[in-house]
Amino acid sequence: MKWTQTLIPTLREAPADAEIVSHKLLLRAGLIRKLAGGVYTFLPLGLRALRKVEQIIREEMDRAGAIEVLMPALQPPEIWEASGRAETASNVLFKVKDSSGRQWFLSPTAEEVITTLAANEINSYRQLPKNFYQISLKFRDEIRPRFGLMRAKEFIMKDAYSFDATDEGAMASYQKMYDAYTRIFARCGLKAFPVEADTGVIGGNYSHEFMVPAETGENEVVFCEACGYAANLEKATSGIPKTAAREVGPALEKFATPGVVTIEALSKEPYKVPANRQIKTLVFIADSKPIIILIRGDDQLNETKLLAKTGAVAARPATPEEILPLLGAKPGSLGAVVNVPGDVKVFADERLQGANDMTTGANEDGFHFKHVSIERDLKVTAWFDLRTVTAGEPCVKCAKPLNIRRAIEVGHVFKLGTKYSEALNATFLDVDGLRKPSVMGCYGIGVTRTLQAIIEQGNDKDGVIWPLSVAPYQVCITPLTVAPDSQAMQLAEKFYAELTARGVDVILDDRDERPGVKFKDSELVGFPIRIGLGEKSLAKGEVEIKPRNGAMQFVKIEAAVEAVLGLAA
Ligand code: ATP
Ligand code: MG
Repeated sequence: MKWTQTLIPTLREAPADAEIVSHKLLLRAGLIRKLAGGVYTFLPLGLRALRKVEQIIREEMDRAGAIEVLMPALQPPEIWEASGRAETASNVLFKVKDSSGRQWFLSPTAEEVITTLAANEINSYRQLPKNFYQISLKFRDEIRPRFGLMRAKEFIMKDAYSFDATDEGAMASYQKMYDAYTRIFARCGLKAFPVEADTGVIGGNYSHEFMVPAETGENEVVFCEACGYAANLEKATSGIPKTAAREVGPALEKFATPGVVTIEALSKEPYKVPANRQIKTLVFIADSKPIIILIRGDDQLNETKLLAKTGAVAARPATPEEILPLLGAKPGSLGAVVNVPGDVKVFADERLQGANDMTTGANEDGFHFKHVSIERDLKVTAWFDLRTVTAGEPCVKCAKPLNIRRAIEVGHVFKLGTKYSEALNATFLDVDGLRKPSVMGCYGIGVTRTLQAIIEQGNDKDGVIWPLSVAPYQVCITPLTVAPDSQAMQLAEKFYAELTARGVDVILDDRDERPGVKFKDSELVGFPIRIGLGEKSLAKGEVEIKPRNGAMQFVKIEAAVEAVLGLAA
């Protein structure tokens, strides 16, 4: 490709709305352009890199035995009603109407479509296992699209869905995808690692996310350097001890705490109740019903765990206006010892199990109870692990201190079980003559997000540093004079032809620009190898070979092609 023939609109400055380095570089290197918030056009170079990522994914999916299909973006709501997700995923669904008034959903994912297909096409255990995948546009009505391709309203996802006759078969399919993902990200030059994950609204019971460590990542990952335990903070647990039991203390006692509405205030003079001897009482509205959550004063509620453990689809903190008529007090004086309506469930964090001599609100403004013994004085509906892990806590597996770091989720594998196959009737006749639902798994990779994660991980002050495997072009030939009869341009054409013939992706910067401009642009776009053809070196019979991420080498003209092939291998 000749530079003048394609479109590479590099920018000196990134537009102000680009906050993170990879978003800035996608724009500055002329890889994408914004049409609207969360909606982008891929320019020629961005598209080339994207296609390479897709190709790596395709090869590894094929190698793992998955088969490619292409499903429609327009999905009838009926299949979403059948799976129950018309409601639970409603907030991300783009809903459109056709001219007859019929409603459609724009595909945010495709469990319902593929399960419908399987229901019709798979009838016997002899056809199993099967794993279908596609690489296609997905649409999600993200409230806050941001960071360019990282969180877009329209993006490309590879989604795969496995169907197995047995649970063990499903586990094997899952493992194949897990291994394929490990290879895919490695081939993309990405340091991505798997972590245990919450299964969220998609359902299922076993799941890993593939995470790329990055300060700008939207996820927090808890990990143990010593034993390798790693989990999304939404799901992570630790080996932190339960609350220490005390000698059975005096009976429950109400005391006045005028104006005290925070854990901190109660921990100070004159009360001096340490946060770890306080019970924090939270009221949430879960699927439109109030629930009470008890957690230790020095702990934080993990809302993802709350949903996962209670099975609620959605939960939000109740407002003071909702709380007052329910418990008779305002936030700051809440507790679960008295005044809890019989139909309100109380969920308590396991760290409070067996705790005694605790302090909690009295459901009366300006009053608290002390010497509260949880098992004796309040009624807990169910105990769950509901707290958020913090750095330094002992690892749940090996007790060494845990770390927390930010990361970008690029892929997600789930074991789904039979949730969708039962709902949508994807059954098969088993070897024993019985009709059974297929055991499913689903596996996603954010292809466009992966592309941006590669840039987030590979860059320096001058621009992108592409891995060879996904660079839009591997080699940029930069003649410093472009007159057709100049030695530089003639050699450039010769190298271009030879390298192209040897299977290398080459771009020839044939612009009549100052050397500084050309060098800056090639660094900004980040081609892994640059061949510089300048008069000074050519006079010595040499060319300049500059790996994007390494030192300049001067190589004899005759040896140049082999040298580049060595670097591009
Ligand atoms: P997130 O938690 O980031 O919203 P998710 O868990 O909802 O993502 P999945 O349903 O697991 O996403 O989708 C599979 C993959 O698609 C994700 O791992 C991610 O890489 C990508 N992805 C999801 N939402 C977006 C988005 N809005 N823009 C770009 N990529 C996305
Ligand atoms: Mg996910």
